[in-house]
Amino acid sequence: EKFNIAIDGPAGAGKSTIARLVANTLGFIYVDTGAMYRAVTWSILQAGLIPEQESEVIAMTRELDIRLEPGPSGQQVIVNGRDVTLDIRTVQVTSNVSQIARIAEVRHILTDKQKLLAIDKGVVMDGRDIGTHVLPDAELKFFLTASVKVRAERRFNETRDRPEVTLEQLEQEIAARDQMDAQRTHAPLIQAADAVLLDTTDLTIPLVVERILELCRT
Ligand code: C5P
Repeated sequence: EKFNIAIDGPAGAGKSTIARLVANTLGFIYVDTGAMYRAVTWSILQAGLIPEQESEVIAMTRELDIRLEPGPSGQQVIVNGRDVTLDIRTVQVTSNVSQIARIAEVRHILTDKQKLLAIDKGVVMDGRDIGTHVLPDAELKFFLTASVKVRAERRFNETRDRPEVTLEQLEQEIAARDQMDAQRTHAPLIQAADAVLLDTTDLTIPLVVERILELCRT
């Protein structure tokens, strides 16, 4: 039987890895909503715009054709026919994305797309506002957290495009992004009242996945 699973939490809590594994095990579709905010951010930077140019950013968001497609090495992100899977992970996109995600109208446009992707159920969706705004009726909701230190360490181990970056720098960047995500006025990062809280600081990924799958079976 198909149902929807919402997975929210701050950067580096393990959401995408865990959501993908849960989706694969259940035969569900994995939807990475952060990739959509990143795709918008990549597009506006590519067009020479900055996040402060809100009306231009909103107009551009409306026009974009963003597709999330299963690929050989995970989910591929296609924007207006171009594969931007790797381009949306650069430090430039990462450091601008939360400013784009603060714009209420950008959120409305992307939220509508995300709701449509989950309409037939059988979706595992990860983001910041899935349990609270995108899929408030999801059958299962999880809020993943971990200490800032551990989250920065995880990012440190997967950061290949910035050999010069220090652990302290990553910690500061993650803390800054969390703060912006948690303090924005529209759909801030917050645990849904009916979400199960999982602190992954001292848990391995297989253990978290197993815990989620257990709750899927009950
Ligand atoms: O998940 P990821 O770290 O790739 O998300 C990038 C950024 O996109 C987040 O820091 C946040 O600003 C924004 N985002 C959001 N709402 C979501 C998913 C991501 O605001 N549902």
